[in-house]
Amino acid sequence: MTHAPEHPIAVPTPSTSQSLQEIESLLLEHYAQYQGNQDGALANYIPELAKVPPDQFGLAVATHAGDVVAVGDADVPFTIQSISKAYNFAMLLDEVGRDETYAAVGVQPSGDPFNAITLDARTNRPFNPMVNAGAIAVAGRLRQILGAGAFDRVLEVFSLAAGRTLDVDERVFESERETGHRNRAIGHLLRAAEVFDVPVDEVLDVYFRQCSIRVTARDLAVMGATLANLGINPCTRQDVFGMDAVRDTLSVMFTCGMYDGAGDWATRVGLPAKSGVGGGIIAVVNRQIGIGVFSPRLDEAGNSVRGKLSCIGLADGLGLHAFDATNPGSSFLRGMAKWD
Ligand code: GLN
Repeated sequence: MTHAPEHPIAVPTPSTSQSLQEIESLLLEHYAQYQGNQDGALANYIPELAKVPPDQFGLAVATHAGDVVAVGDADVPFTIQSISKAYNFAMLLDEVGRDETYAAVGVQPSGDPFNAITLDARTNRPFNPMVNAGAIAVAGRLRQILGAGAFDRVLEVFSLAAGRTLDVDERVFESERETGHRNRAIGHLLRAAEVFDVPVDEVLDVYFRQCSIRVTARDLAVMGATLANLGINPCTRQDVFGMDAVRDTLSVMFTCGMYDGAGDWATRVGLPAKSGVGGGIIAVVNRQIGIGVFSPRLDEAGNSVRGKLSCIGLADGLGLHAFDATNPGSSFLRGMAKWD
């Protein structure tokens, strides 16, 4: 897939070592501040996830210029889980465009838990691609369009976004496959609604595998920076996603990425983000940075406790909130003399 003509304005300027040092000292500060926090609990509905060492904590930031700053357990692998939903959604948008994508899944916050076995009654489609029903609909469409090679393509695209070859945690995959009864129920609901027309087990194979892809906080930062950088991986310069796909994905991450904690997150952090029950969170500052955090204890909404606290700290410390008083707004408008 190539999007070259669509990316006329993605020109990186190197980050200064001073700004990188400032980011690093902020990461170290939050690492020290939250390291002792043991609030929350490991996800236990997937048996393998309950075995993860709970005290792990890693933070990373990747810039649009391809620099990466990482502290703590930023190179410890864990499963990407629901963060995969954002990237599969971008993939489907690239593969089939908006009309066909939005015929399969909506973009409305659901207000329900992520694993709710429900569709939007108005459309008979999942509310949005960030809850399980929506992600399984997206996986189903990809499986139908790409055939038996669908998951290989997913892994390839995720690897391009991370800038290195990723793999699957087979034990987590097996554990999900054995115990994913709610997801199986959702799969049958979607097939009955004719969202896809391939066997449910084949769709769930893609979905469970995509959730079991192993990443690190550093990988998440680079994957986030790929979205921040208009779909081009800033470290490898590889063109991964088209700009329309990136824009829609970030929009849905902003409104629906943090499950039923999304409103609180939008108010407190003010960035498009996506969390996973493996303890990862990815957050994106458009045109500037990707943030990757990992800490496996989760709050009631299923979001990493220390990850969320760190993102609040970074947003406050660097003025990242979309509506922060220090946020300079549109560079286009700033370019017009009267707006300065
Ligand atoms: N694989 C998990 C599930 O389907 C993903 C959920 C999540 O990270 N919220 O239950």
